[in-house]
Amino acid sequence: MNIAQWCGKYADLDFNNETALTCVEEFKDIVDGKSLILYGAKIIGESMCNLLHEMGLSVCSFVDKNYDKIRELCGVIVNKPEWLKTIDTEKSCIFAMVDPYNLSEVISYIDSLKINYSELSDGHSAHSVLQTAWCTIKNKQNIPIDPRMCMNCSVMKLTCKALKLYLMRIMDFDVETATGTDTQKSIGYSLAGICTLKCKDCHEMTPYAKPSRREYTPKDVYFSDMKKVLESCKFVTTLEFVGGEPFAHPELEDILRETIKYPNLGLIHIFSNGTVIPNNDVCRLLSNPRIAVTLTNFAEQLSLKQREIFERVKKKMKESNVQYIVRFLTTWTESNSFEFVDDNVEKLKKRFSECRFSSCRRLAYGIMYACQHDYAGELTGLFPLIDNQVKVHDFSAEELAEALEEFNNREYFNICNYCQLPDKTKAIPAAIQLQ
Ligand code: SF4
Ligand code: SF4
Repeated sequence: MNIAQWCGKYADLDFNNETALTCVEEFKDIVDGKSLILYGAKIIGESMCNLLHEMGLSVCSFVDKNYDKIRELCGVIVNKPEWLKTIDTEKSCIFAMVDPYNLSEVISYIDSLKINYSELSDGHSAHSVLQTAWCTIKNKQNIPIDPRMCMNCSVMKLTCKALKLYLMRIMDFDVETATGTDTQKSIGYSLAGICTLKCKDCHEMTPYAKPSRREYTPKDVYFSDMKKVLESCKFVTTLEFVGGEPFAHPELEDILRETIKYPNLGLIHIFSNGTVIPNNDVCRLLSNPRIAVTLTNFAEQLSLKQREIFERVKKKMKESNVQYIVRFLTTWTESNSFEFVDDNVEKLKKRFSECRFSSCRRLAYGIMYACQHDYAGELTGLFPLIDNQVKVHDFSAEELAEALEEFNNREYFNICNYCQLPDKTKAIPAAIQLQ
């Protein structure tokens, strides 16, 4: 069996402890005696490397076009792609640690370098399978799952079952008596239509919010929306606070205090640009084991003052025992165009299934949106609602469960035809500031 066959065997499997153990053993057999090489030294590559290390497997090298800027990741050297010419590829397993829709680009690039390799594996799929199996085993052994690891995990997009089971276990959640839909795996709640930064290419398009939405979402609006949706759901694995800048929200303390009491909500994940220092009361709440923070460092785009604040936010997170990670982002994927694509249904389904935002539902002011692009259209007033989005307060709890189920089971959304993601976009510098 090779890695592709192994992935095919396990990709759609609902793991239990036994199948997870077999899956991990088979992976180890396949790579036994081979040098493990990870092509792509970004977030997915880093996650895979950490996982392999945790499993007791060593990684021989990363390979990346930006090798001279990165040099080393997780203690492993980063070589240039041409380095692959110098190794015995028959005795190596090379994993392309890129989003699936970038795989063909990597293959063409390696081919253009005239590198002979016996197999280049889809590392994204391999990581998803292996990490889920590994976390299933850890969960069975009552080993805690660190949410910081989940924040970089390729499985997270699908809001992983291992994470859900772990959260249910630590929350003593009674799955037998729970009612409502099981399809609402995550919610991204937009807490603000204003931000401390003005990023030209913001995925949420916050700097372009229409005047009526340039505000922090009042806490009562948030409470009423969340109460309504959670009443219709069995268990929501993750809630993400997106923005604008959540730490700038004047009612964040009250919002967090109530949110951690919701009995059928697991992980609360806050995205911050690290330019606002949360007060002591907020930090105390943030130290809850079910809360995790991603601080995105846009270093080059920040003023000296903002960089200094970023360091102070980091220090405060550490001193307050908050579970946080720092993410350096130098590039983004351009995503703000509403230009018509004119794909047929089959193409739309394919694009949707490959889009990493396809499960990123957004909730704001009583409306559940398909994704951040859908939400951005409404926030800015640039694009009308065309997907029969779920107006959550129009339904009873039972009706809403059905409406959400129908919404979450769609194979694509009409808005995808007014979006260039995932494959018709290009990389752009992250967080360029508007004047
Ligand atoms: S999302 Fe978390 S629990 Fe799930 S596989 Fe990834 S790291 Fe493990
Ligand atoms: S509109 Fe469709 S393709 Fe675009 S980000 Fe949303 S789910 Fe992805």
